[in-house]
Amino acid sequence: HLPLSLLISLLTAFAIYLLSGSRISLAYPISQAISHREFQVYCQPIINSADGRCVGIETLMRWKNHREEWISPDVFIPLAEQHGLIIPLTRYLIKQVVEKLALFPARSDFYISINVAAQHFNEMVIVDDIRQLWLSAEPRLSLMLELTERTHLQELTTEQISELKEMGIMLAIDDFGTGHSSLSYLKTLTPDVLKIDQAFTASIGTDAINATVTDTIITLAQRLKVKLIAEGVETLEQADYMRKRKVDALQGYYFSRPMPIDIFPSWLEHYEKD
Ligand code: C2E
Ligand code: CA
Ligand code: CA
Ligand code: CA
Repeated sequence: HLPLSLLISLLTAFAIYLLSGSRISLAYPISQAISHREFQVYCQPIINSADGRCVGIETLMRWKNHREEWISPDVFIPLAEQHGLIIPLTRYLIKQVVEKLALFPARSDFYISINVAAQHFNEMVIVDDIRQLWLSAEPRLSLMLELTERTHLQELTTEQISELKEMGIMLAIDDFGTGHSSLSYLKTLTPDVLKIDQAFTASIGTDAINATVTDTIITLAQRLKVKLIAEGVETLEQADYMRKRKVDALQGYYFSRPMPIDIFPSWLEHYEKD
């Protein structure tokens, strides 16, 4: 019979084959799914830690394919990035948000936060897309763009950054502390907001080393006068911890799971009543 090691490598090769097969086959459906309107815009409230008011939302994309299966954004976003489909996808999301602006409170300090892949920036079109959204939103509400370090922002020019800033759009670094270029991003982007990754929030009370990193990120941001949003807040303990350390805003299941944007007005009504 086969030696165990050979069996293991055969199984591994087969698993890789299966995985890569499904990866390749997903890319085409993404472009179809855009035209079939299979993507839905969800949102998750962002809560001011000092007074508990909802100060904004983050938009999050959802995909329910034609077989009624939910595909996680952790799967389809990286794929869309690889296959050059992230720009049409983000444009689709922006269009949906523009169509549904009336769902959100007309407060000039209420912000809609959108995840933007670096690629989108690199292609320059982002500034035009965002300008369009901005023109229909402003001065009714504010806009924030969340950037991750997944793709390097080599091409992002200071020109683009200052153009967006001149429009009054806020820039946030998403998943701060998880990438390798976080610190250089602080310099090139001069962000308005840092989002503390949920892994750090989860470390509170459970993981001393990450909890130390969390405190360091908080101190760093406060010294630089950059606002902080803690992500992945699931418990009262985590919320209290962030509040005590003057983290500006909180986001997570403790307050609300992401919901379809159509439901947001009734969520807000209930939330504000309590
Ligand atoms: P992200 O931008 O870091 O978004 C936060 C993720 O954490 C969301 O996952 C959200 O549902 C989840 N989350 C929120 N609160 C909690 C909590 O209390 N506990 C836990 N365990 N998780 C929480 P989601 O919606 O599955 O999105 C995953 C990632 O996919 C996002 O991470 C973002 O990087 C990407 N993504 C989602 N929508 C878009 C989009 O429209 N454009 C782009 N470029 N990326 C997107
Ligand atoms: Ca985000
Ligand atoms: Ca994040
Ligand atoms: Ca994340």
